[in-house]
This record gives sequence, structure tokens and C-alpha cells, in this order.
Amino acid sequence: MRRAGARASGAMSTRLRIIGYSVAAQALGEIVAFIYHIELTNACDLTCSYCPLTESTRPRSVMSDETFEKVIAHMKKRSPLNFMILHHFGEPLLHPRLPQFIRRAAEARLNPGFSTNGEKLNRDLFRELIQNGLRWMCIAFHTPAGEAAFHECRDLAREHQLVYWGRHLEGGEQAHDPNAILGYGIERQQLHSFAGTVASEEPRPSGWRPACDYLDRGFVCVLHDGRVVPCAMDEAATNVLGTVDDLDSIQHAPSYELCRSCQGFTFYDSFRGLMKNVVEQQPTRLATDHWMA
Ligand code: SF4
Repeated sequence: MRRAGARASGAMSTRLRIIGYSVAAQALGEIVAFIYHIELTNACDLTCSYCPLTESTRPRSVMSDETFEKVIAHMKKRSPLNFMILHHFGEPLLHPRLPQFIRRAAEARLNPGFSTNGEKLNRDLFRELIQNGLRWMCIAFHTPAGEAAFHECRDLAREHQLVYWGRHLEGGEQAHDPNAILGYGIERQQLHSFAGTVASEEPRPSGWRPACDYLDRGFVCVLHDGRVVPCAMDEAATNVLGTVDDLDSIQHAPSYELCRSCQGFTFYDSFRGLMKNVVEQQPTRLATDHWMA
């Protein structure tokens, strides 16, 4: 366990690094790309009607060790989140080297975690992931098996102070409660249309630009094959910004054709609330307080 002084100076240097990086980016008039989602695989063991992956034509495969190491190297240099999200499309538990990837991310102090459908989750695997450094997990209740896995593993999450919550996906109003998450509870999240790819959304005029944290804050996603796309709605990879070999030079764009059918995606505030609670309760394990201003 790191001492408080070391933690404070580490957080300060991270904060200064992010501020300096943001100032430089703004001076250049560019939104620099920060890694948000990492797609370990685009294979899935379910075929949900509200997921664009179900109809996807991308070849199914998994992320290589080499690609993952490039992601880690980049995030160690530039990560305003200091928080590794190991899902995009596909089911992370299907990656054969998930425990090893979790260990590498934890060694890099990137606080790894992911969202899963829970189909392949059991107590032995969950314990192994925790021992390797898993810091958080969300189980989306696509099936009764996923919900059962959530309840089966809940006591282990409490025992190891894992940030752990379940999520009901429904058509009604969104109800996000960060406090419920730290209480190992269940939240409700509204289904979305993935920018009109799984439900009709009338395209707006050319140049339409909704409020969106991807566009405003420059987050990007790394696909399993190493390509980099600008947002979590872009399953088909219609907007490839480059590859993991270009991460130091990739820039976000003002908006995309896909944005014309999208309401935008503003997760920052709720995410910040979650992280604030995490930091307050587990300050020695998560160093994300530079996002808490
Ligand atoms: S498609 Fe939607 S989520 Fe993606 S960048 Fe555009 S507005 Fe944001």
C-alpha cells in the first residue's frame, strides 16, 4: 500500500500532466484523442436485438498481446481517466487471456474493469480476476443467467471492495445512482439506438453536432484489431482515425456522419460522480481525483 504522501505527489504529478496536455492541445486548436473503451474481442455469446454487433459483418477475433501492450504504454503516458475500460462491443469474458490482461493493466496502475453479460461468470473466475487486479465490474442483465451471476458473486465483490453493480436495460427513463453502485446495487439504464443503427433515428441536417463527451472531450475506442474509432456507437468502424501505432498523433474530429442520427453521449457527469465516490472510499486504490474538480 502506498503512503498518503506518495499518493498525493503522484496525484499531483498526474494532475499537472493532464493540465499541461490539455493546455497544449487547446493551444493547437485540436481535441486530442484519449483512450476510453478497449475492445478485447468482438465475439459475443448472445445475440441481443438492441446491439449492433448482432448484425455486424466485422470478422470476429480477439485483441493480441502486442496490441494490448501498445494500449497500456499509451495510457501510462496519457490517460485523464487513469481508468481502463476493457469493453466496447463483444463479451470480455470470452477473451482467453483476460486474467493476464487484467494483471498487466493493474501493474500499470490503470484500475481495470469492464461490463459483461455475465454468461461465463462464476465465482472461481471472478476470484481469479480480482486476485489479478480487477477493480470494478458491471453486469448488464441481458438474461436471467447474468442476473444470477451478479447475485452469486456479490459477496466476493464486497469482501474485496470491488466497485460492482448490476444494470437493468430498459426502454423507460434512465435512473443512474452512483451511490447505489458503491452499495453493490442495481441501476437502470435506458436502451439506446446506437446512433440509429438498431432503431430508426431521423438524420439531422449535415453538420449536426449534439452535445457529446466523445466530441467534446476527445475520447476514442481501440478495436480488437488495433484500429481506433471515435466513439462507442461506431460498431461498424465507419470512422477509423488510425491505429494503435498512431496514438501519439491521432486527433478527434468535430463530428461525424454517424452523429446526424445520434443524441450524443454525455456520460462524464455520472461517471465523475461514480469515481468521486470510489476515490473517497478507496483512495489508496484509485488515483482519479484529478477528475474531481
Ligand atoms: S455518433 Fe453520437 S456518440 Fe458518437 S461521436 Fe457522434 S454524437 Fe458522439
